[in-house]
Amino acid sequence: MPYDCDVLVIGAGIVGLSAAYALTRAAPGTRVTVLEKERAPALHQTGRNSGVIHSGIYYRPGSLKARYAVRGAAEMIKFCAEHGIAHEVTGKLIVATERAELPRLHALVQRGRENGIPVRELGAAQIAEYEPNVRGLAAIHVATTGVCDFGAVAGQLAQSLGASGAEIRYGAEVAVVDRRPWGVAVRTADGAVVRARVLVNCAGLHCDRVARLAGDDPGMRIVPFRGEYFDLARPELVRGLVYPVPDPAFPFLGVHLTRGMDGGVHVGPNAVPALAREGYAWSAVRPRELAGTLAWPGSWRIARRHWRYGAGELHRSLSKRAFTDAVRRLLPDVTEADLRPAPAGVRAQAVLRDGTLVDDFLIQESPRTIHVLNAPSPAATASLPIGRQVARRALGVLGAAV
Ligand SMILES: Cc1cc2nc3c(=O)[nH]c(=O)nc-3n(C[C@H](O)[C@H](O)[C@H](O)COP(=O)(O)OP(=O)(O)OC[C@H]3O[C@@H](n4cnc5c(N)ncnc54)[C@H](O)[C@@H]3O)c2cc1C
Repeated sequence: MPYDCDVLVIGAGIVGLSAAYALTRAAPGTRVTVLEKERAPALHQTGRNSGVIHSGIYYRPGSLKARYAVRGAAEMIKFCAEHGIAHEVTGKLIVATERAELPRLHALVQRGRENGIPVRELGAAQIAEYEPNVRGLAAIHVATTGVCDFGAVAGQLAQSLGASGAEIRYGAEVAVVDRRPWGVAVRTADGAVVRARVLVNCAGLHCDRVARLAGDDPGMRIVPFRGEYFDLARPELVRGLVYPVPDPAFPFLGVHLTRGMDGGVHVGPNAVPALAREGYAWSAVRPRELAGTLAWPGSWRIARRHWRYGAGELHRSLSKRAFTDAVRRLLPDVTEADLRPAPAGVRAQAVLRDGTLVDDFLIQESPRTIHVLNAPSPAATASLPIGRQVARRALGVLGAAV
C-alpha cells in the first residue's frame, strides 16, 4: 500500500500541532502530515482564548487536567523562553466577594496544595497589596500562573514541524474518512486523498464529527459554548490576573480580568450556548449544527439541570449593564463605558448522553485511530504533555501496525 505518511493529524490547533511535534521528536523519521481546514494554524480555540498559562490549582488531584496542567505550565514557559515568544509569570488572585464563596475558596487552597501549587491566603485588606482597585472578602494568590500568546506558540510549533520535515497542508478540510485493515484514507473537501497508517483526530470543535466520519461512536457530542470578551478602556485599573471563585458544577472559571501580553486587560469570558460550532456571535447560526446539538439528549439534560445558571449567563450576554454589574463585584470602579467589545471564543465542551459535562481531558483509541475528544481549558497550557501522550499512543498503534 503506497502510504502518503505514517501518521495523519487532523487539526492545526495547539493540540494537533503539539502531537505532531512530539511524534517528530520521539521518533525522528516518522512521516507526519497535518491537515487543517483553515488557511493558517490556530484560528479557532487556540487563537481565541484568555492566554493564561494555568497553574493547575482547580483540577481534581490525579486527573489528567491536574497532572498535565502543572507539568504543561512549566514546559510552556520553557518553550516560550527558548523560542523568544513573549510570556510572563504574573501570578493571579482568586477573589471571594460573597460569604458563601469562602468555603469554596478554602477548598481551592487545599486542592492547590494537593497539586503541589504554592498559594498564599489573603484577608480583605491584603488584596490591595496585589490589586489596589479590586475588592473582596478574602483571596488567594497563586504565584505560578502566567500569560502568553498561544497563537504564537502554535505558529512556532508549525515552523519547527516544517523544519523537521513534517508537512502541514492548509485549506484541507477532511470530509471523508475511510478506515480499512491496512490503514486510513481521508478525502478532503477539494478531492485530495491522503493515505496513512494511523489517524490522529485533533479537530477541536469538530472532533466528534470526525470520529463519526471514521465510523466510531464517541459516546459524546461537542456542545459549543461561546465566551464573550470586552477590553478594559482603563487598563490601569488592573495589574495582573483577577478571577472569581468558580462554581465547581461547571468547567468554566467565570468572568475574569486578564492583563495580556499586549498590555491590554481583557474581561471575560462568559459561557453562552453558541448557535454554530464556530459561532462567534449571536448572528452566526448554522441550522444543521444547531439541529445536531438539539438532537443530543445531553444538551436538554444540561438545560434542565442548569437553567438558572444559563439564564444568568444569557442575561449578561444580552445586557452589557448586567455584565458590567458582574465585573463590578470584583472591580467596583468599572463602568459600562469602560468595556469595549472584543472578539469572542467558542469552547469545545464534550457532553455525555446523560448531560454530564465531561470534566477531564478525554483521549480515546480505536483501530488505527486516536481521537482527542475533550480538550477544553487548560488544554492550551497542557498542550505539550497532551501532545506527548497522543504521540505515544499513535506510535504504539503504528508499532503494532507495521
Ligand atoms: C474562550 C476561551 C478561553 C480559553 N482560555 C484558556 C486559557 O486561558 N488557558 C488555557 O490553557 N486554555 C484556554 N482555553 C482552552 C484552549 O484554547 C483550548 O483548550 C485549546 O486551544 C484546544 O486546542 P485544539 O487544538 O484542541 O483546538 P483548536 O484550536 O480549535 O484546533 C482545532 C483545529 O482543527 C481544525 N479542524 C476542525 N475540523 C477539521 C476538519 N474536518 N479538517 C481539517 N481541520 C479541521 C480547526 O480548523 C482548528 O484549527 C480557552 C478556550 C476558550 C474558547
